[in-house]
Amino acid sequence: MKSLRIILIDQLTPSISALEDINKFHDVILMCEHHSDLIQVKHHKKKLAFWLSAMRHFAEELTQQDYNLIYRTLDGADNLDCWPSEIKRLQASNHFDRLIITSPSDYSMLQSVQSWSDQTGLRVDIRPDNRFICSPERFKSWASGRKSLRMEFFYRQMRQDHHILMQGDQPEGGQWNFDADNRKPPKIGLQIPHPYQQSPDAITQKVMALVSERFSDHFGDLEPFYFAVTQAQAQEVLTQFIEQRLKQFGDYQDAMLMHEPWMFHAHISFYLNIGLLLPQTCIQQAEAAYQQGKAPLNAVEGFIRQILGWREYVRGIYWLKMPEYQHLNYFDARRALPDFFWHAQTDMNCLKQCVSETKQHAYAHHIQRLMVLGNFCLLAGINPDEVNEWYWIVYADAYQWVELPNVTGMILFADGGYLASKPYAAGGNYIHKMSNYCQHCRYHVKEKTGPDACPFNYLYWDFLVRNRDKLKSNPRISMMLKTYDRMEAGKQKAIAQSSQDFFDHLS
Ligand code: FAD
Ligand code: SF4
Repeated sequence: MKSLRIILIDQLTPSISALEDINKFHDVILMCEHHSDLIQVKHHKKKLAFWLSAMRHFAEELTQQDYNLIYRTLDGADNLDCWPSEIKRLQASNHFDRLIITSPSDYSMLQSVQSWSDQTGLRVDIRPDNRFICSPERFKSWASGRKSLRMEFFYRQMRQDHHILMQGDQPEGGQWNFDADNRKPPKIGLQIPHPYQQSPDAITQKVMALVSERFSDHFGDLEPFYFAVTQAQAQEVLTQFIEQRLKQFGDYQDAMLMHEPWMFHAHISFYLNIGLLLPQTCIQQAEAAYQQGKAPLNAVEGFIRQILGWREYVRGIYWLKMPEYQHLNYFDARRALPDFFWHAQTDMNCLKQCVSETKQHAYAHHIQRLMVLGNFCLLAGINPDEVNEWYWIVYADAYQWVELPNVTGMILFADGGYLASKPYAAGGNYIHKMSNYCQHCRYHVKEKTGPDACPFNYLYWDFLVRNRDKLKSNPRISMMLKTYDRMEAGKQKAIAQSSQDFFDHLS
């Protein structure tokens, strides 16, 4: 038996199912930097350099371990930029019995892989992606028969199934969720540890040159480049997080400060999603830190909930609902994405900070993505296809399986409430409480209407009123609509006028 093993861009894990039972002497591993795979959307330059560097480092490690690897570089003359053509060419000289691949993370790539057997005449074995904790089949069985798929219940099930932070059949500390202890506003003088930074080595420098030459019209700053690009370096990022930041992760999970993009977050999503870290490792190491008294339960539980709960849950929703989940638009939102999402030139300081940091780092933390950028897109009625594309482009951790449910379901409520119980809509007060952005803004967060008022304040009401018919049956939103109905007519008129003026000036 002789097989061809394929490793895709985001499958850089030595224990990946595609490499199980490999015979080093007979089998061949194929990795390709296909231009067509790299430009599904016009990804951030830093993300492209990260992908290429991590792939080349992974390939180098496999070669050092004496695997028989064929690697097609982006600029190599032998790159056919087409998987079936690459496979047919190798098949002609190798006569493989079958091709083995781990199921791709992306729906359209899976469709494509499913057609390879017909296109190449080679048997194709698609193995489950063993880098997630919950398989799509397990998620489907959990979801079956449930009226609503709330993350919290899925997460409790996962804790029980995998015996994570449990005391017998009870949750550690007697509670499933310590959210009430989390989410403190930032305080003055907060000491935030420096983030992990890796200087580019020769491989990274080479791919940076390639990216700057080939993708110069893509969004984002390529330099400085400091991401980890190997398994060992990604493990250093995780260790540094557990030792230096985890203790305060829960407390300041929602806090935002100007010029502090990294806060107490883990900065591991890039590595998890490309395969350099495994979710099980992150969970085990965080749980061990709690058992050893190095971090409190509210922080550890909050962190584990993100990985075992949210991350597995959004992937479950993606595979359960694709392909229908693409292009949903419950509110029929049609406004174009404003230009400042690309250049950050806006008077709204919160948006300016979050877009600038995204441009620099290909990273923004969860609350910036949800309550600043996402909240704006929801309230302003930006077309979900444009919002999805933007999020997919700009973040180094973005792949369709994770970006789509977060954007369509979580921030835009464009699935009509399948993922979230209510839209995450908020006025400026939330941002004021959780950040120092408003102190440096040309708008006044305490003013509700008029040219100097914080736009979030009137856009919030405008959004509710515009979508009244679709929101009035939601108990939590109907209370807000009643509050609006009790407002004086003059106040209601001022909200409508301020919103209209704002939209008239939005490019
Ligand atoms: P931490 O805050 O330290 O959290 C730890 C880990 O939990 C993350 O690394 C991530 O793997 C996981 N996690 C937490 N929340 C989520 C979530 N909602 N969905 C999936 N994983 C989660 N995350 C991505 O990995 N890729 C995306 O494309 C992406 N797009 C997003 C778009 C929107 C609109 C929103 C609101 C969130 C999105 N997220 C996405 C989730 C989250 O914002 C990022 O995972 C997180 O900011 C990454 O930074 P971190 O590693 O420092 O995370
Ligand atoms: Fe953002 Fe409004 Fe605060 Fe300005 S005042 S930073 S627009 S929330």
